[in-house]
Amino acid sequence: MKGQEFIAGTMFRLIRKMYRIWKSIPMHVMGTITHVSTSDMVAALTFDDGPDPVFTPLLLVILEKYNVHATFFMIGKAAEQHPDLVQKIAQGGHAIGNHSWDHPSFPSITGRERRKQIRASAKAVAPYGQKLFRPPYGHQTVASRIDAILLRYKVIAWDMNACDWEKHDAQWMANRLINRLKPGSIILLHDTLWDIMEKDAKDRVPVLEALDIFLEKVSRQFRFVTIPELLRRGRVQKQNWYVKDHNDW
Ligand SMILES: [Zn+2]
Repeated sequence: MKGQEFIAGTMFRLIRKMYRIWKSIPMHVMGTITHVSTSDMVAALTFDDGPDPVFTPLLLVILEKYNVHATFFMIGKAAEQHPDLVQKIAQGGHAIGNHSWDHPSFPSITGRERRKQIRASAKAVAPYGQKLFRPPYGHQTVASRIDAILLRYKVIAWDMNACDWEKHDAQWMANRLINRLKPGSIILLHDTLWDIMEKDAKDRVPVLEALDIFLEKVSRQFRFVTIPELLRRGRVQKQNWYVKDHNDW
């Protein structure tokens, strides 16, 4: 009887182990990076949808004030219009990633169009761009995830945001960031909003003020690094991150 129990227990553990390995393979290959697991007091600020000729230079001043290096997920079409700004960002020690050519929702276009979007954006930020991709709106399907793999991009999502595509005052956004910050976080912010026409939400001054309050509060405890550096500093955490709605951000 004891022998049978032992065999049954061993079999159960073996099956459970195999199931875990089987489950982790698609996550390892198809998962999207949301943060890293680390006890180091490091985090990464990311800014999407730029560069913007008005707000990006103001943002660079704040980042320099706190000696912060960030990652900019740029729109190729905007980068092409502002090559000096792209160069200035790269020379400031920031990383530049790819946020498509003109921000379509990737599940709504064909694979051929998606790859064209990523390639055109990469060309616009060359030679400074890195193989880091952030899907517009965070929208992704299995097919669009495979396109990123084919082009050898790491897909970077986030685990924190300030809801900065909505109208909030600076203190509200700063508090949200302060309360949620933890080692290894990837923080989503925008130095402009590509396709939001509402003037109040488009104004980045409250976001810049929020960032200033946030960094004033936490930059002595936390070091803010680029995404490539963050990925070296901890164990990469992934999620199967497919078609997300705006409201899920
Ligand atoms: Zn975007």
